[in-house]
Amino acid sequence: MKIVIVGGVAGGASAATRLRRLDEKAQITIFERSGYVSYANCGLPYYIGGIIEDPEELTLQTPDSFWERFRIDVRTKHEVISVNTEKKTVTVRGLETGKEFEESYDKLILAPGAKAFKPNIPGIDSDNVFTLRTVEDTFRIRDYAVEKSPKTAVVVGGGFIGVEVAENLCELGVDVTIVEGTSQLMNTLDYDMASMVHAKLRSKGIKLRLDTTVQSIEHNKVTLDDESYVEADMVLVSVGVVPETDLAGNAGLELGIRNAIIVNDKMQTSDPDIYAVGDAVQVKNIVTEKDSLISLAGPANKQGRIAADNIYGIENTFKGSLGSSVIKVFDMTVASTGIPEKRAVAEGIECDKVVLSPMSHAGYYPGGEVMTMKVVFEKKSLKILGAQIVGFSGVDKRIDVLATAISDSMTAEMIKELDLAYAPPYSSAKDPVNMAGFMIENIGKGLVKQFHWNEIESKIGDDTITLLDVRTPAEYNRGHVEASLHIPVDDLRERMSELDKSKPVYVMCQSGLRSYIACRILSQEGYDCYNLSGGYRFYSMVTKEVKLVSQSYPCGMDK
Ligand code: FAD
Repeated sequence: MKIVIVGGVAGGASAATRLRRLDEKAQITIFERSGYVSYANCGLPYYIGGIIEDPEELTLQTPDSFWERFRIDVRTKHEVISVNTEKKTVTVRGLETGKEFEESYDKLILAPGAKAFKPNIPGIDSDNVFTLRTVEDTFRIRDYAVEKSPKTAVVVGGGFIGVEVAENLCELGVDVTIVEGTSQLMNTLDYDMASMVHAKLRSKGIKLRLDTTVQSIEHNKVTLDDESYVEADMVLVSVGVVPETDLAGNAGLELGIRNAIIVNDKMQTSDPDIYAVGDAVQVKNIVTEKDSLISLAGPANKQGRIAADNIYGIENTFKGSLGSSVIKVFDMTVASTGIPEKRAVAEGIECDKVVLSPMSHAGYYPGGEVMTMKVVFEKKSLKILGAQIVGFSGVDKRIDVLATAISDSMTAEMIKELDLAYAPPYSSAKDPVNMAGFMIENIGKGLVKQFHWNEIESKIGDDTITLLDVRTPAEYNRGHVEASLHIPVDDLRERMSELDKSKPVYVMCQSGLRSYIACRILSQEGYDCYNLSGGYRFYSMVTKEVKLVSQSYPCGMDK
């Protein structure tokens, strides 16, 4: 068996090594256009900021190490320029020699990834404008940052790579502005959760120009669509990626969304002898069951393994992707899985959400840190559709549990019952994931009704309702919603007569827990009441960009 692989990083290298483990005799060749194989592209931003100091850490694997361990022939600086599906050959160009040659294959695996999208902006090809995809790109950016000592930088696009590079340039002392065309950074989050990322970046001195596009890039300045300009000694353009599929298209393979390669669940293209994996292919979104582009390292690696298995007759299928992701934003961890609320709404799914702020572990054990968790669910079935968490420690663990739950189509009833490990230094007896399940179950069973942060403004001054704040006097005095009546939860039973029973009561506390208790007290006395999801803390974080803090007092203990 002779197998040729185009692209030797996440998907290609995974496929190659799995192939070797399945067949000692196969002839396996990887053609890789860049100068490096199986490099750590997810680590590239951290080399720019100097957190990863040794460039060899990014490029631990070499053609020699692949040969020694796996007897895989890796040819870096070799670009595959065409595929002849009739003859089953590829034409390869040696980028150092300029020489072209043909190589035959029994099976071909395409793992060419995606390329950074470069919008048609005047000045985008200037020397101080960069994109980040390969090791070479990284060295160019790092060298520029070290040699030219830029004082200012503009990052165009506020997705994962944009935010990571902005942080790393900021750590180098560069004055960074992120210009983003939509109203929020990190599109996998809903606006309310992204506002915590905005607050963190701004607190670090990074300027955000949201709802703004770049008109042109001139020497040391970037002109924006409102004619204002931002000084920029360097510019990073990170406005998304497009599948790198000219090769596949020219070979006549079937293409789909943004020309991504269409594959079946065995990762086989429209030509049965050609497989394709990674950022170049379209996949099924597990939640919506629709075709999507999900460009992440986990799916690429798994798909490489699946393609190899199927080539060797081991039945293995790719079920789809959830787009689970996690990113460090200075000292914060920001993670998501499944679909955000905005996507569920756009898909016409009737959904609701809960927002909670649990501690990473038992509050009484030192070192616990608060996280804000938003869990989106289908209203009728209570099936979990997506989750987003912003916090410090413990975020990655909860998002992974929720990703597992969503993969298995779990409902709130099922996640509340998950038997998760507990001891005080690690979690709470009711883990945050269980808590989210309890809260959704309460809503499903009609034990509590909710209202959300974006409904508050319309309720201020509305005399057909009562806005009730049940926090302590100290909390209330530090900031409250205008015109809200203040009765601490512990006084509520005695002072209930101050509330007009004919009006619905909209109750809030700091995080949503005491207001839930208040709602239960009131509803059993015949009041129609609604609990503010996420509490005053979430409302003020979203509307006033109050920064997320890692330490918080237990609910109701702040006298
Ligand atoms: P790649 O890993 O991009 O590999 C494709 C390779 O194919 C390239 O090296 C390219 O040179 C080569 N190639 C293309 N065409 C040809 C050709 N014609 N001939 C020969 N070679 C060719 N994902 C995460 O899940 N978590 C993260 O934290 C994360 N961080 C990232 C940070 C950065 C800066 C970048 C750029 C990406 C990050 N990603 C992250 C995304 C992740 O790296 C990709 O989803 C993953 O690498 C895709 O794997 P792939 O094999 O499809 O493509």
